[in-house]
Amino acid sequence: MVMRIGRTLSPAASPLHVADIVSGVAGFFAGEGNVERFENELKLFFRVRHCCAVSSGKAALVLILHALHELHPDRDEVLIPAYTCYSVPSAITRAGLKIRLCDMAPGTLDFDFDRIVEELENPRLLCVVPTHLFGVPADVERIKALISGRDIFVLEDAAQAMGGEWNGRKLGMLGDVGLFSLGRGKAFSTVEGGLILTDNTLIGAMVEKHLAAVKGYGVIDCLKLFVNAVALLFLISPRIYWLPKSLPFLKLGETHFDPSFPIRRLSSFQAGLAHRWQAALHKLKAARAVNANKIAGYGIKLPGVCGGTIPDVIRFPLLVADTETKKKTLRKSEKMGLGISDGYPDSIDGINELRNLLAVTTFPVAKDIAERMVTLPVHPFVNDSEMKSIMQLFNVEPGC
Ligand SMILES: *Cc1c(COP(=O)(O)O)cnc(C)c1O
Repeated sequence: MVMRIGRTLSPAASPLHVADIVSGVAGFFAGEGNVERFENELKLFFRVRHCCAVSSGKAALVLILHALHELHPDRDEVLIPAYTCYSVPSAITRAGLKIRLCDMAPGTLDFDFDRIVEELENPRLLCVVPTHLFGVPADVERIKALISGRDIFVLEDAAQAMGGEWNGRKLGMLGDVGLFSLGRGKAFSTVEGGLILTDNTLIGAMVEKHLAAVKGYGVIDCLKLFVNAVALLFLISPRIYWLPKSLPFLKLGETHFDPSFPIRRLSSFQAGLAHRWQAALHKLKAARAVNANKIAGYGIKLPGVCGGTIPDVIRFPLLVADTETKKKTLRKSEKMGLGISDGYPDSIDGINELRNLLAVTTFPVAKDIAERMVTLPVHPFVNDSEMKSIMQLFNVEPGC
């Protein structure tokens, strides 16, 4: 690893402000009602009857899976894309359910719909998890059409797509139940957090039933959150980011398979941090849209997106020629502090802990994505000259 001192971009950033932390502290003292206020605002905005705020996207997934499994106890398998965030198989394992993988369609970050058809015949299949990776919309409608008539739920993983829209519809609202992550580097962040949203009264009631057994953050946990929020406030800034990045014990940007994570209700401190969420999300989206459109202006296409509109991506995914090019690009970016980052290190079947559990099937497209994908930063800290330098690494000119 190269050590760099000086202005350095993070791969993603949903920066907090001093005012947010002040509201967080005020929220902490205001108590539980503050979380309820946040949930009610979300219900209104997303036009759903049920919204539950919890400690992470993973925690949201586990609670949803418990609820779905209780509704269909004879079904215990969960179909996910073979290329996705490691948190997803971690949560399925934590919920005690079985992972099934479907490969991606070449050139996209979405399921291979020819392959998914046979998976849907599986009588043990509980739900399918279409995923808006990096904010790139997955075709949820197509899955719903294929499922029609079967007792299979559509669990929309919109962890990276809060506030995103496609064809005039809000992402996260397209399946039977959806989730957002409020983790660092997601579309909008409260240090950590997750949201469950559904308009389905059966699922909503069941999720709420499971949530009733879940504890909140203790005072010490809230204090830790506060310290993290203050640290984040400073460290995510490009002037300082080289410092935390150079500290290996922080393990910034590393992705792990780990089913042992806390499951809690969101704290009133986090709800306080989020108190300007609509305005903050709106501003973040606008800044990301400017940068994503600049990249698109260089002729770089988002995998699987046709047509003119660029969706709200939190990082701009890009497939390069081969693994060597990827490694070279990442090394150069590291030296120059440009915030280009790897996607996930491998397809899900490549995770050591899962090797024996998953069938012998291979997932060549997911593997290929893992080998060739890099993501470009689009967050508000990316300036004009950095964008130009990033584009120079790919030898592209604007408008070509
Ligand atoms: C981040 C993420 C999650 C999990 O969210 P956490 O808040 O990090 O637990 C789930 N799915 C996808 C696609 C993600 O990117």
